[in-house]
Amino acid sequence: MSKAEVLRKLHDEDRFVLVTHEGPDGDALGSLVGMHGILRSLGKDSVMYISPRDLPLPYEYAWLDFDGLVSVPPPDADTRTLVFLDCGNIERNPVETLRASARCMLNLDHHHDNTLFGDINHVAPEASSTAEVIWDLMHDLGVEPTVSVAEGLYVGLVTDTGRFMYTNTGVRSHEMAAELVAAGVDVHETFRRLYEGMPEPKVALLARALDTMTRYDDGRLTYVTLGLDDFAATGALESYTEGIIDHLRAIDGTKVAALTRAIPPLDGGPARAKVSLRATDREVDVSAIARAAGGGGHRQAAGFTTELEPDEIVAFLRSEIAAQLAPTAR
Ligand code: AMP
Ligand code: MN
Ligand code: MN
Repeated sequence: MSKAEVLRKLHDEDRFVLVTHEGPDGDALGSLVGMHGILRSLGKDSVMYISPRDLPLPYEYAWLDFDGLVSVPPPDADTRTLVFLDCGNIERNPVETLRASARCMLNLDHHHDNTLFGDINHVAPEASSTAEVIWDLMHDLGVEPTVSVAEGLYVGLVTDTGRFMYTNTGVRSHEMAAELVAAGVDVHETFRRLYEGMPEPKVALLARALDTMTRYDDGRLTYVTLGLDDFAATGALESYTEGIIDHLRAIDGTKVAALTRAIPPLDGGPARAKVSLRATDREVDVSAIARAAGGGGHRQAAGFTTELEPDEIVAFLRSEIAAQLAPTAR
């Protein structure tokens, strides 16, 4: 029903501004580019907004077609429908100016814990990615994907399914991929752009991270932490942490992999850290742990931002994991 309302809005309205979550990943940026291209094919006026804090865009995704990207809120924002893509909760998106003036807010997403903050919400937890949600809307709108749209949606699909290997991967993911490849995606070139061409500081950061690796409770929690000094010493950007956590998750015996990285404090405020969590199986729901700390995400991939110290974070994670595993341990 909300999908029908979304389709009506996309059809009836003429002007849009598209936003996504902070620290945008492949699904966030791919969905943005995909939705933007679809709206343009429909003859609509669309702009993509990214906060200056999130620029430059991560190198893995910067090659997508970002024509129509702005980093100042458009002056005519009050005439535009605001479309949130891949945002589980509105706090993850800091665009107050746009929110204050928006004509209407659409919330298109796939997080099961989405807080339904939009005027119209279309949240499909069974979808592998927000890109898949958009791909589905694209069919209903009768739009054929351009190469730019296909590339954006493919990047969202590939990154959120862990290259078609996570539990959210199914027949539909592969059907979607087939369609997008037929529409012009160069699979190998996309692989090279997403996963190779890594800046050397990223590897240096990985080395430092692995050096801090600690395993708690028989390795059920595998943990690494990065301080601001690690970023300064290697010249790595925060976005270079992408992928580090996958090495931890891959270690035998790990139930939960956690990566903590310090982020600069807000105007002289307390030290802050971002925590990424991954579960290896369905036994632990890391989104519940993240929610308990004010964040959110998926059962097997979640995160939160905190003012806790690293040792407090570890204690919190260990106790949350123990609490979830307790019933089966007995
Ligand atoms: P990340 O570890 O940053 O790649 O994030 C993994 C998953 O957790 C994604 O699905 C995010 O949407 C979600 N997530 C990360 N940080 C937060 C947060 N502060 N609030 C809500 N969800 C988050
Ligand atoms: Mn995302
Ligand atoms: Mn996503």
